[in-house]
Amino acid sequence: MKYIGAHISVSGGVSNAPINANAIGAKAFALFTRNPSRWHSTAISDKEAEAFKHNCDLYGYTPQQILPHDSYLINLGAPDTEKLQKSRDAFLDEMNRCIQLGLTMLNFHPGSHLNLMNTDDCLDLIADSINSVLEKTSGVKAVIENTAGQGSNLGFSFAQIAHIIDRVDDKSRIGVCIDSCHAFAAGYDLSTPEGYEATWNEFSDTIGFNYLSGMHLNDTKKGLASKVDRHESLGKGMLGENFFKMLMADPRFDEIPLILETPNEELWAEEIKWLYSLT
Ligand SMILES: [Zn+2]
Ligand SMILES: [Zn+2]
Repeated sequence: MKYIGAHISVSGGVSNAPINANAIGAKAFALFTRNPSRWHSTAISDKEAEAFKHNCDLYGYTPQQILPHDSYLINLGAPDTEKLQKSRDAFLDEMNRCIQLGLTMLNFHPGSHLNLMNTDDCLDLIADSINSVLEKTSGVKAVIENTAGQGSNLGFSFAQIAHIIDRVDDKSRIGVCIDSCHAFAAGYDLSTPEGYEATWNEFSDTIGFNYLSGMHLNDTKKGLASKVDRHESLGKGMLGENFFKMLMADPRFDEIPLILETPNEELWAEEIKWLYSLT
């Protein structure tokens, strides 16, 4: 079974996410549980958390089909001590919000060295940040998203993600989410059958499918290895329709949330329908 959905708006409260997801025919969804571009977060009321759980039950969404995304401000590899602590505190808050909502995964971007640190030291620091937050929580998996490698963002290669996982103490609480736009921009050619196979073989050898906890399904405006992160609607970019056809026919991507972050929300219902027609 493929769980296909999109990153849904929480306008009016998190409890609206399952309602909005159901309205577009989604069998999975992503959401922000706090404002992704502010450090300040407002607590979720118990009433709102209960309404969220109730609506998830009502529309048949289990935690396995829901992949919350953390705030864009968080940098778990921040070279500056103060910013690092701020990021760890915010990430802990994100984790606790997931626990409050009965969720079991939290998707995040690994971090950036900002040209003030070498890559390996920054990857070590990210793993230390993950360990410190996992120690203080339980029940939620930290799900690392691969990046396009724009600027000084790390996690654009499978080897870098494996480096982080290797240093995480509790391997049962670490996972990976592969964003197809980011992977292509980072140099993984998922657009051809040969490239598709080579990419997933490398993924299997370097990280392992046991860690795969979700996917972000996006086409891309920019070219292979461009290191530029620009999402495009499905079939309208450089990845093209073939990639999505291969993925929908591939059972290695069953039973995990497959989330659209494509730029035109108006197309989501249609895109989801098209993807299901390929399964
Ligand atoms: Zn992301
Ligand atoms: Zn993404």
